[in-house]
Amino acid sequence: MMAKADYQLIILGGGPGGLTAGLYAARDRLKALLIEKGVLGGQVLVTDWIDNYPGFPDGLSGFDLVEKMAAQAARFNLETKYREVTSLELSEETKKLILENGETLTCQSLIIATGARPNILGVAGEEELTGKGVSYCATCDGPFYRDQEIIVVGGGDTAVQEADFLTKFASKVTVVHRRDELRATKILQEKAFANERVEFLWNSQVQEIKGENGVEKVVLRDNNGNISEMAVTGVFVLIGTIPNNEILPLDQLGGDEYGFILTDQEMRTKIPGVMAVGDIRSKAVRQVVNAAGEGAVAAIAAEHYLGGLKD
Ligand SMILES: Cc1cc2nc3c(=O)[nH]c(=O)nc-3n(C[C@H](O)[C@H](O)[C@H](O)COP(=O)(O)OP(=O)(O)OC[C@H]3O[C@@H](n4cnc5c(N)ncnc54)[C@H](O)[C@@H]3O)c2cc1C
Repeated sequence: MMAKADYQLIILGGGPGGLTAGLYAARDRLKALLIEKGVLGGQVLVTDWIDNYPGFPDGLSGFDLVEKMAAQAARFNLETKYREVTSLELSEETKKLILENGETLTCQSLIIATGARPNILGVAGEEELTGKGVSYCATCDGPFYRDQEIIVVGGGDTAVQEADFLTKFASKVTVVHRRDELRATKILQEKAFANERVEFLWNSQVQEIKGENGVEKVVLRDNNGNISEMAVTGVFVLIGTIPNNEILPLDQLGGDEYGFILTDQEMRTKIPGVMAVGDIRSKAVRQVVNAAGEGAVAAIAAEHYLGGLKD
């Protein structure tokens, strides 16, 4: 016999993954709640312009996309609460979420959509010029840099693969790496080395990003302390993605070596009734469109799970 819970489903996180799960759940009349610690929208809110979400042939701002997603969920009366969840207790059949104010909420099923954040350089000019030449996503922003000279910061698989990809648009891509060799797998290195539009600047770091209304140049410092400047219009910081997993019991849920949640195709974790969607999932591509798709799949998986529970 299942103890009575406050909600059939709680969705933790109000980015595109959580909002889509919320839309499906509310439209299917589950007693569902979405909890968000900030404002709805997640990383989409820091995305200046979105050109690759289908249905908007002219593109739209991240703010407009979020507003539309939130309005659509609200049309089906999705209940929303603005609080930070500070811990989770998932070992019993009834799941518990403890909020920042000490309140406890219970649910029969849970969708985790806490997202991720890009690792930043933490240098002067980076924050001010984010979305104005500083980018953390080559797939998202590469096409804006047609025939321009840009840099990629990093030396891992993502940096090297995306440097190669960015030459579809940019006239020249310089990979700035703080060591004298790459961490990326050999095959990716070979492809980038063979690409005549990719150059490498070894043993160097970006010290500052400068520009008035957009990136104009970077100040570089090599490992011997020499300072130089390079004129570029784009800086792609590709030094990793940090999962928002601080409150998640990854050993119970099942996590990968980088701290993302492993799921099956229905977005189910190792804990029955607990799903994970969007950027917090262990996967290769982190975009709005697949976060939204996964939100739909997880809401349907939650319904199936709830349908199998005995009252
Ligand atoms: C600069 C930038 C540009 C991008 N451009 C594009 C683009 O052009 N096209 C594209 O498709 N994708 C783009 N992306 C990627 C896209 O934004 C993400 O893939 C997408 O937002 C992931 O959605 P999500 O719902 O999984 O998580 P997120 O958007 O990360 O949202 C997670 C939400 O969970 C909340 N949360 C986390 N922990 C808690 C907690 N403990 N309690 C309560 N709430 C919590 C957060 O506050 C946040 O609102 C970009 C990303 C960045 C950073």
